[in-house]
This record gives sequence, C-alpha cells and structure tokens, in this order.
Amino acid sequence: MKRKSKVRIGRLLLVIVLTLGIVLIGGFTAYKFFKGDNNDMTNDNKPSEVEKPNKDNEQGDTPIDNSDEAKLRKEYYFIDANLDRYLAYLKANPTKSMEEVVRCVNANIDYEFYTNEVPSNLDDGYLLIVNKYNKLGSDYVPDLVEMDDKYNHNKGYRYMNPIAYEHFKEMVDAAALDNITLFNISAYRSYDTQNILYNNYVARDGKEAADTFSARAGYSEHQTGLASDINTSSSSAHFENSKEYAWLQENSYKYGFILRYPKDKEYITGYKYEPWHYRYVGEDVAKYIHETGITFEEYYAFFIKNK
Ligand SMILES: [Zn+2]
Repeated sequence: MKRKSKVRIGRLLLVIVLTLGIVLIGGFTAYKFFKGDNNDMTNDNKPSEVEKPNKDNEQGDTPIDNSDEAKLRKEYYFIDANLDRYLAYLKANPTKSMEEVVRCVNANIDYEFYTNEVPSNLDDGYLLIVNKYNKLGSDYVPDLVEMDDKYNHNKGYRYMNPIAYEHFKEMVDAAALDNITLFNISAYRSYDTQNILYNNYVARDGKEAADTFSARAGYSEHQTGLASDINTSSSSAHFENSKEYAWLQENSYKYGFILRYPKDKEYITGYKYEPWHYRYVGEDVAKYIHETGITFEEYYAFFIKNK
C-alpha cells in the first residue's frame, strides 16, 4: 500500500510539474506575443539574415561599389566601359569627388603617363588626339601648307595643317582689326625635330622636369600640324598677362582654336600651363570646350572615343 501511494504521489507530482511547465511556457509565449516581443525575435533573426549577404558582398566589394556605382552613373560624363576603373580609382583616392573620378579616369589619369598608350586614331581627322597615352608613329607626316610670313615669324616651324591654317589666318586677321598682333612661332614639328628638342631639354633639366613641359617624340601635338605656339613659347614671357592672350581667351574658340594646356588642368593634360599653345579642333568643339571648361582629353573620351 505504501509503495502504491508513493507511486500515485509521484505520478501526481509529475502531472503537476508538467502542467505547470506547459502553463508557464504557454503564458510566457502569450505574454511575449502580446507585448510585441515577437518583433525582437524577428529583429534578432533579421540582422543575421541581412548581415550575411552583406558580409559575403563585402568580400567581393559590391555593397560600397553598388552605391558608388549609382552615384557615378549620375555623373554627366560617365562612360559605361570605364566603370571598373572609376571604382578602382575611387578606392585609391577616397577623398576625390565622383565628378573628379570620372574626369580623371576618362582622361586616363588612373594610368601612369606614357603607359597603356595606343596609336592615335588617324580617322579622327582634325579631332585627332595626341597626348601621353595616344601617340603618332615616327613616320607620320600630316597634310601641310607653308604659312605666309604675315602669319608666321619662325621660318623653321612654318608648316601647318591646311584646314587649321585657314582658320588661323581668319583669327589673326580678326585680331588685327582689334589692334592685336598674333603670329605663329611653332606649328608643325616632325618626329625627329621633337626628338632633338625633347632630348635637349632632358640633357638640360633632367627627364622628370622635361616631361612636364616637353613631349617625347611621337607624343607631341605639334606633329599633327593642328597646333600653334602663338607669339611665344616661353613661360618667362608671361604671355598670360598680355592683351593678346586676353583676346585669345575671348575669341579663339570662334575660329576653332582652344587653349590646349590650361592653368590648373596640369593633372589632366600632363603639361604645365601653356598660355601660348592653341590647337585647332573646329568651331563646334572649340565652343563646347570654351563654354564648359573641360579639357580636350575629357571631350575626346566622352564624345569621340565613346560614340
Ligand atoms: Zn606648343
């Protein structure tokens, strides 16, 4: 009998414990539910679910890139083919704005000068680009005409592209009407001439310095016959302070000429400010560049190479 009652008591206790357990668990769950704590449960779960793909993406660099990509795509001069280079350049230069990143990469500034160079596309006609990434062959000689003494004061460099020359004459004549005297001192320069000039500068100033103001042979815009150094080619002349320069700033674009190496654009063009160096690009392109203030490098990348 005693054993039976002990068993009964034991069963009864088990039932009570189980019932209490169920009631407690049920009550607690109901309490949490009504209190809204089930949100916490989902919140506890959500971050781990959300974080996980994020973490995976971070390894592949997509989450930051995704938002940066969206910002980059809003830039007016965004070029789809340059996306990976924009992102890499931004990563290496996190303080640069999206506009600067697009501007620099379009101009190839993410590459060292004189690397990744390609032959200039001769099909571009007078919109041909020659710079530290686009070069001409040693045998390239453009169509040239001899300039009249009225327009040229340097016998050694008196040849120019015929289309550029026509507009150069118009510009010089128009300037004369405003009592402004303009003349060429250096238009076409052959590969061999440029080679001699550049090597002389290297011998005088060293290669690093020479590269900031003189082009290596094949990389000079003067080999296109489309450029002219007007009145001077020396920074010590301070042409930028002259009335001739002021006139060119106001008017050269009307005749299709642009200031090719502007002030504060050295980081894009790769050349020191050259207030005397003008390049024929045609009236429409010159007007656009005059109005927007972009360099020919940027114009070329977006409107010519990208089309
Ligand atoms: Zn020049």
